[in-house]
Amino acid sequence: MGNEQNFDAIIIGAGVIGNAVAFELSKQGLKTLNIDRNHVSGYGSTSASCAIIRVHYSTFDGCALAYESYHFWKDWMAYLEASEHDNLATFIECGCMIYQTEQNNYLDKVIKRAEELNIPHELWDPKKIKEKLRIVDTNKYGPVKSTSDKSFGSKTGDDLRGSVFFPTAGYINDPQLSAQNLQMAASKKGAKFLFKSSVKEIIQEKGRVSGVVLENGEKINAKIVVNVAGPHSMKVNQMAGVENDMNIKTKALKVEVCHVPSPSGFNYEKEGFVISDSDIGCYSRPEIGNNVLIGSEDPECDERLFVDPDIWDESFSEQWRAQVLRQAQRYPDLPIPSNSKGVVALYDVSDDWIPIYDKSSLPGFYMAVGSSGNQYKNAPMAGKIMAELIVKCEDGHDHDKDPIKLQLNYIDREIDLGFYSRNRIINEESSMSVLG
Ligand SMILES: Cc1cc2nc3c(=O)[nH]c(=O)nc-3n(C[C@H](O)[C@H](O)[C@H](O)COP(=O)(O)OP(=O)(O)OC[C@H]3O[C@@H](n4cnc5c(N)ncnc54)[C@H](O)[C@@H]3O)c2cc1C
Repeated sequence: MGNEQNFDAIIIGAGVIGNAVAFELSKQGLKTLNIDRNHVSGYGSTSASCAIIRVHYSTFDGCALAYESYHFWKDWMAYLEASEHDNLATFIECGCMIYQTEQNNYLDKVIKRAEELNIPHELWDPKKIKEKLRIVDTNKYGPVKSTSDKSFGSKTGDDLRGSVFFPTAGYINDPQLSAQNLQMAASKKGAKFLFKSSVKEIIQEKGRVSGVVLENGEKINAKIVVNVAGPHSMKVNQMAGVENDMNIKTKALKVEVCHVPSPSGFNYEKEGFVISDSDIGCYSRPEIGNNVLIGSEDPECDERLFVDPDIWDESFSEQWRAQVLRQAQRYPDLPIPSNSKGVVALYDVSDDWIPIYDKSSLPGFYMAVGSSGNQYKNAPMAGKIMAELIVKCEDGHDHDKDPIKLQLNYIDREIDLGFYSRNRIINEESSMSVLG
């Protein structure tokens, strides 16, 4: 690529969200360029993602957006305008079960929202849970403890009250491929992609953004620049000089995900489903190779390790074993391997674990950041939100004063994009965890 290229919009990052932004902006007729320091799309936090598609959140807007987004995964080929000859990521719609616990107020709000939004759901008692998952121990173990606690692993009560099961949920088998699918779809609309290139500077002219400078000194011009840099979002916002204006900020959090073989005699890959279990502080889902994938729901007893996304220890820690031992309370026959297998990665966490989809104090500079370990599922809608915001703001709309509304076509609801503002006050309804 020669010097002084010109585009309408530069998107920093080619993960699942960055590529969805490219797809939607290209549909609006903008000439876009995604720039990524990796060699292919989706190689950042997208490739580490558990890619769980669920429809329950702590907030009403969170639920509405997730349920709308579910429909795009369900209709992935049509959304991408692809054909069955294309190698597409697959949505494994195995459903998602959430245990009713004291910590989540027995899911009172989640059930109310599901009713309000007409999201299909079932209430399961412990007997039904055991019928569906014969390896399970439904005794109470919470509140979640550190594994060094003397009473760790001792039950604290008989059966949990029950659970809520959402059939319209599951996971994507290959999140990196889904980002590449979006690249293909965007490319067909004219979008361009530049890999192995790092943005080191964001330039301005006449009080607005005017492009970027790459590490090799190359300058690329655009009057719109979008920060979709995942765990590097904070660094990119600092480059643009917009961070001080933001009430909600982002930072990188180290997380570990465990892959452990299924209890023997049980086909977890076929019979398992996505589970959120605040009684043991873990979420889980089936994983290829008849494994159980175990992530953490960030219980209060665990220390949070925020890091510099350019300098951090990428090895597993004691946290891996803690998550497996916690899960073993629920599956007493869960093997506990001596070798840690799974994923070590970074979440791009916002102060209230809700993303920021917004403009900034620098005209022309936008951001889709703070995905907080829970926005993979919303990537298609994040693309639409950003395209709507960018087109309207560039047309002179003051989104800070008069937040833009967006129609959710599948579920026939309108949402107020002010919910995702960088200048919101911390949303107290949030779980302040990966659950969003
Ligand atoms: C372990 C883990 C589990 C998760 N599980 C789930 C889940 O089950 N469900 C769910 O909904 N969400 C989940 N998430 C969250 C979800 O994966 C992310 O929200 C999503 O992938 C973010 O996509 P993105 O495009 O914003 O960022 P990324 O995929 O991180 O892409 C950002 C890109 O920007 C590039 N970049 C950064 N800085 C620069 C620069 N200066 N110059 C050039 N390129 C740059 C990086 O190379 C990277 O490729 C999980 C995340 C993790 C880490």
